[in-house]
Order: sequence, then C-alpha cells, then structure tokens
Amino acid sequence: MGFSTTAIHAGQEPDEATGAVTVPIYQTSTYAQEGLGKNKGFEYARTQNPTRFAVERNIAALEGARFGYAFASGMAAIDATLRLIKGGEHVIVSDNTYGGTFRLFTKILSNYGLEFDFVNTSDVSKVEEKLKPNTRMVFLETPTNPVMIVTDLQAVSYVAHAAGARVVCDNTFMSPYLQRPLDFGVDIVVHSTTKYLNGHSDGVGGVVVLNDEEDANWLAFVQNSAGAILSPFDSWLVLRGTKTLALRMEQHDRTGRAVAAFLEEHPAVRKLYYPGSLSHPQHEIAKRQQRGFGGMVAFDVGSLDAARTVFESVKLCTLAESLGGVETLISHPATMTHASVLPETRARLGITEGLVRISVGLEDTDDIIADIDQALAKIE
Ligand SMILES: *Cc1c(COP(=O)(O)O)cnc(C)c1O
Repeated sequence: MGFSTTAIHAGQEPDEATGAVTVPIYQTSTYAQEGLGKNKGFEYARTQNPTRFAVERNIAALEGARFGYAFASGMAAIDATLRLIKGGEHVIVSDNTYGGTFRLFTKILSNYGLEFDFVNTSDVSKVEEKLKPNTRMVFLETPTNPVMIVTDLQAVSYVAHAAGARVVCDNTFMSPYLQRPLDFGVDIVVHSTTKYLNGHSDGVGGVVVLNDEEDANWLAFVQNSAGAILSPFDSWLVLRGTKTLALRMEQHDRTGRAVAAFLEEHPAVRKLYYPGSLSHPQHEIAKRQQRGFGGMVAFDVGSLDAARTVFESVKLCTLAESLGGVETLISHPATMTHASVLPETRARLGITEGLVRISVGLEDTDDIIADIDQALAKIE
C-alpha cells in the first residue's frame, strides 16, 4: 500500500460503536469493568487509550515499524528511549543534535551514570573510534538542526551493530514521508510530533517506533510507569495531521528547494545550509536516503546585526521557535533553540550569530521568497 493510503487508514477503523469514520477522542480516565478481572482490554487511561493507540499504530505503520508509543512531547519520547540504557553504559550522539536533547543528556541523564560522547556522526570513522565495550546506543539526528549535517544511516548502523549497539534516529526534520530510517538498518525512530507529523503548530507530542519486541516491551513499561503519555486530544490532532503528511511534505519540499535556490544566489548570503544543494558536503548521501530535502533551510548573513535586520524586516515569516507547521517560521538558533549549547561548541558547528533558520511553510512559494527578498535587501 502507498504512503498516503497507509497514512489515512493504518491504525484506524470506523468506530465500532457508531461507525464514526474519524477515531473519536476518548476523553476518559477510566473504563467500566464487567466483573473482577473482566474488561474490554481497557482499565485505566494512562495505560490504555483508544485514540492514543490509533496514532501509535498509525505512525508505526508510516515508519515501517511493528510497535509505537506516543508521549507528551518529543523530549519525553527521547527520555523514555534513553531508559533502555542503564548506569555505566555508553551512548554516542550526533554532536549537532537538537539543543533540548543535548541538555537532557548532559545536564540530567549524565547524573545517573549514563556516559555520552558527542561526535560528528557524518564521519563514520568518528563513530567507530568512540565505540566501546559498554556502548549500547548510537543516537543520530539527520539532517541536524540547524546546520543540516547528514549522517549515512546504513554505514553507522553497520558499525554500531557490529559492536552490539542499537541505533536510534531522531527523524523529526524529515518525517517518515521523506526518510524511513528503519529501511537503512536503524533500530528505533523518535519524533517530535509537534513538528511535521502534527503539522499545524497546535500541539506538542512525541513518538517512538521500533521493531525489537524486547525493547518495545520495555518502552511500553516505561510509558506506563513514568506516565508521560500523549493526551487523547493531542493524539487526535496528530492523527488528523498524518492524513495530509504526504501532500504537505511535497509542498514543503518544493518551496524549500525554491527558497534554497534563491538564497544560494543572493549576495547577502555568506553560506547556505541545505542538503539539496549540490555544494552540500553530504548531498549524495541525502539523495540516497531521503525522498526529498524538506522544508528546513539555514543560511548565514555574516553578523548579528545583519541577522537582526532580517528578523525585524520580515512581514510574512514569523519569528518563532519550532518548525514543521503550515506557517513559515524564522528563528535565530544562537539565541533561541541552541542557547543552551556551549559557545565554543556553537562556533565549531557553525551556529554563528549571523545564522538564520527558516522552516518553510505552506504559503505560496512566491510570497515566501518575496518576503525574504525584501528583508535581505534591508541589510546594509
Ligand atoms: C522539537 C524537537 C525535539 C523536541 O521535541 P518537543 O516536542 O519540543 O519536546 C527533538 N528533536 C528535534 C529534532 C526537534 O526539532
């Protein structure tokens, strides 16, 4: 079955009680039981909720996974995934990972005996060098936020598996429409559903999908025990979002290409970060493992003053954190999403004060480009 057919039907049958074609929001905390030990498989809503189950089955199907678990946020999903790791075990992480992931790993989980090494995972030999007997996980993000470093999923999975480590990929930037990490040997995919999967900037959530039954059982246990579940209403919003995921990603991708092509030629742009560009160092890998390049484009205008001019001059683009919604958002990674990353690390990664990140929305392509054009024209 094709992607859109799966998106519209997987995990959701017309409601048994009424025939409602859309999965209802089961806004209940508990379920009536027929007798002691006799129930319909639903006892308490932290543990079981039909709306949440539907979105979990749906996203698992889109990623080609057997199991899925939905959480209250992307960070809650990532935190739960790290519960597969015990004190004394070691994790290798993409060094240009999402700021919140970096913060969770270095400021919280490292207090519980988990060991982390941050490396440029686009260089497989760097991953190989850091693999140790106690390495149990390699945590990847590709393309990374915001400088779009691409990691070869197949190559990293190969060396990680040889060392007995699982591979996790944060697939938030691509969505399963543009990239399916499990097809390249990755074991676990995590998403912030807040972004493209919901797609309408009206809910926060996260999901973990995987095939290994033992790890899946542990994640289900963690989800129920720690309790950071996705609410029925937010589950419903994500279910509504995934139905149009293919259409939305096609358009994000089309406009992303046009915006990147425009920026690449613009004299005020010092550097473009976009895997679809022929000049991107991992363009060939991106082409091989992605169906498209998505709606995220970053560029450097050389200074904080120039960046500020852009932020203060845009009219259509909204200055805001987050990404993946219908509206075009523009942000300043150095002071917004990556403020918690050490200044020297930011400098090494290219997250300068002149770096601007755009999440291209679904407005008309020409309007988005015209807005960026008039803002860039204001730079002295
Ligand atoms: C937003 C984001 C997260 C965190 O998700 P929340 O839903 O905000 O908790 C994790 N990874 C990436 C790549 C993100 O963009």
